[in-house]
Amino acid sequence: MQSISVYDSLTGQKVPFKPIKEGFLSMYVCGPTVYSYVHLGNLRTFLSFDIVYRYFLHLGYKVRYVRNITDVGHLEDDADFGEDKISKKARIESLEPMEIAQKYTNDFHDMLKKINNLPPSIEPTATGHILEQIEIIEDLIQKGFAYQTNGSVYFDVKKYNQTEDYGILSGRNIEELLNHSRDLEGQSEKRNPQDFALWKKASPSHIMRWNSPFGVGFPGWHLECTVMSTKYLGETFDIHGGGMDLKFPHHECEIAQGKAAYGKKPVNYWLHANMLTLNGKKMSKSTGNTILPMELFSGDNAFFEKPISPEVLRFFMLQAHYRSVLDLSNDAILAAEKGFEKLKAAYFWLLESSQAEKQSSIDIHSWKQKCYQAMNDDFNTPILISHLFEGVKYIDGLKSNKQTLSQEDLILFQETFKEPSNRENFASGLAYLKSQPRAICSPPPKQFP
Ligand SMILES: [Zn+2]
Repeated sequence: MQSISVYDSLTGQKVPFKPIKEGFLSMYVCGPTVYSYVHLGNLRTFLSFDIVYRYFLHLGYKVRYVRNITDVGHLEDDADFGEDKISKKARIESLEPMEIAQKYTNDFHDMLKKINNLPPSIEPTATGHILEQIEIIEDLIQKGFAYQTNGSVYFDVKKYNQTEDYGILSGRNIEELLNHSRDLEGQSEKRNPQDFALWKKASPSHIMRWNSPFGVGFPGWHLECTVMSTKYLGETFDIHGGGMDLKFPHHECEIAQGKAAYGKKPVNYWLHANMLTLNGKKMSKSTGNTILPMELFSGDNAFFEKPISPEVLRFFMLQAHYRSVLDLSNDAILAAEKGFEKLKAAYFWLLESSQAEKQSSIDIHSWKQKCYQAMNDDFNTPILISHLFEGVKYIDGLKSNKQTLSQEDLILFQETFKEPSNRENFASGLAYLKSQPRAICSPPPKQFP
């Protein structure tokens, strides 16, 4: 078994990964709020965790990968005010909220498939887990960590912080938060401004509403992830992933909810993927510095001189480590395309090659080991890709007869480069070249593992 190190955002350290149960991985990644077309930056986040998923599968782990769909409860402002993003879009597009959720879920799936991501094992929705959310709210009220006010229920951060550490993940200090809180609409019903909504009372015009013991309303955004991760992965699971921007308040709140409800830390390793910038600047709708994946693929945009294929985008994104900021620009992606074509050409030549000699002039075993070392080191895809290019040099040497490989080494070299027949390829977008991805779903046992 390979030994993997991961960078845990909670401790701020690279630590050896030890699964709760040997050979099994339980992983939860926060999915999209489906109120608009998927953002390129989000694609990068989900690609990062696709690599984590594929690598564990490649190593022979049995993986349960849960990634949710947020289809209710995500308000425009993190401080629990403003309109529900889905309800608002439904109003603007004159559609049912569930039509909005379906429309953008479809887009999300289409784009992930285009960049060759595997589907998760379970993709639960927030609206499909309202009953479970009500149950945990009742439990939190009973344990004294939540209170009802004016038809809404809030998590009592100050109470929680008396025995636990709110801010443990994001490094925020609660006293500082208390001093810097803004006075916002709808905040007055909270005991403290840091308290966050578990259940929000629905105004008469609010379309997405459910009956509950607390009144007619809808769940708060943070709760669904606690509920769905616990339901499918257990009260403590191995890896929780998401974009860097979700650290606070979303993931901080998840930790607090889980600890308050179950008395244990919900997650052993927190992994956060960094953002994608466009031409050196943050992508933002308001400044116009933004592009949709489909505009990149079709060429219908003002930023790139030609259409970019999804496989090149995937390769481009893997050239940066998932924890680094990656900048997308015309020159950078054209350079990636060149590199990818070179890699592909070498790969195809190698697969066809039967050019074996008595002795090897290249040490394929240590090359293979270096590839695994890169992936074992917090999924370092840029280093892995540099080893693949070292492999391209070997291939050039074989082509020009300057290098030789024994029959055994040639097969090892081919097999390391190509998809192992019974597992998923992890190396890059190369799986594209052979076949479409297979779904990995198997009927889940009641409890994992
Ligand atoms: Zn989440």
